[in-house]
Amino acid sequence: DPKQVINFGAGPAKLPQAVLLQAQKELLNYSGTGISVLEMSHRSSDFTKIISKTESLLRELLNIPENYKVMFMQGGGSGQFSAVPLNLIGLKKDRCADYLVTGTWSAKAAKEAEKYGKVNIVHTKLDSYTKIPDPSSWTLNPSASYVYYCCNETVHGVEYNFIPETNGVVLVSDMSSNFLSRPVDVSKFGLIFAGAQKNVGCAGVTVVIVREDLLGYGLKECPIVLDYKVQAEMNSLYNTPSCFSIYIMGLVLEWIRSQGGSNAMEILNKQKSSMIYDIINASDGFFVSSVDEACRSRMNIPFRVGKNKGDDALEKEFLDGASKLGMISLKGHRSVGGIRASLYNAVTLEDTEALAAYMKEFLKEHQ
Ligand code: PMP
Repeated sequence: DPKQVINFGAGPAKLPQAVLLQAQKELLNYSGTGISVLEMSHRSSDFTKIISKTESLLRELLNIPENYKVMFMQGGGSGQFSAVPLNLIGLKKDRCADYLVTGTWSAKAAKEAEKYGKVNIVHTKLDSYTKIPDPSSWTLNPSASYVYYCCNETVHGVEYNFIPETNGVVLVSDMSSNFLSRPVDVSKFGLIFAGAQKNVGCAGVTVVIVREDLLGYGLKECPIVLDYKVQAEMNSLYNTPSCFSIYIMGLVLEWIRSQGGSNAMEILNKQKSSMIYDIINASDGFFVSSVDEACRSRMNIPFRVGKNKGDDALEKEFLDGASKLGMISLKGHRSVGGIRASLYNAVTLEDTEALAAYMKEFLKEHQ
């Protein structure tokens, strides 16, 4: 019975049931138009309403100041690894950017940026992605065009619980995997981007929120579809956007609003993640999280099973048992192994309780 499945996938991830039902209801005939959003012109008045409503929901839920543009782009989070330097590394003449590299995703972003300018990693290289180097040890370059960090490292489960201080240098953040899972003060950022397929929708669209005064510094070789100035001026309609993904995002944002917005999401996400971390912490080393307590992610919880920091056979047994109970996509990322539970907004308290109960049972059986 598909209703019994609980999806702990890291992305694309679970969507709220209410959103799926609404999309199903509207699939063949959207709001009396007689056609599906899948078939609708991106220049039609119906789609214009969808995209403007999605933008205003984002503005409302994140309290986005007036002097920021909101764009719906394609190319995923990875597209932004290129778009950020292509548009912003020219902000200052040195063409230099500061990067914090605290996991797979910021490492990839830094590597991509090297194609377009000088990249300065502001801290000593980490042997393992299990902590955030102390800000007092960072060597920020005052003439950098921007400082970049990944707010939640999806693979390693490392999340920033603070906003880095950059002494006036433009701050850029990849919030793909914790977007709208908690409130955020947008005014502290030059740019925020987030792929939709974790907390706010399905794959195909990436939200970019950028301060207006940063537009117009793009390198001349910037592909036009990645050009923030062009996309901002054209309200994301320079070319055909991911219409259906934008529509789904609008439905998810309405759902988030109906649940109480980003404050309510934060309360729920704290509750869910502590439930799992408490079990890990109380397991006497049977479940192992190697991430510093100060930066353990509320969204992605990677852990190993077995006293020797992970035992392949036990982990297989854990995954097989989970799958018998309908709990899927718990396998850790191939680069770190073990287990990873992703607890995005749409994963309910009950879903998390089911995982918690299973972990306790598994612990009892193997102790
Ligand atoms: N940044 C983060 C934090 C991610 O988790 C991911 C994807 N898992 C990406 C960027 C890349 O996104 P995409 O696959 O949409 O390019």
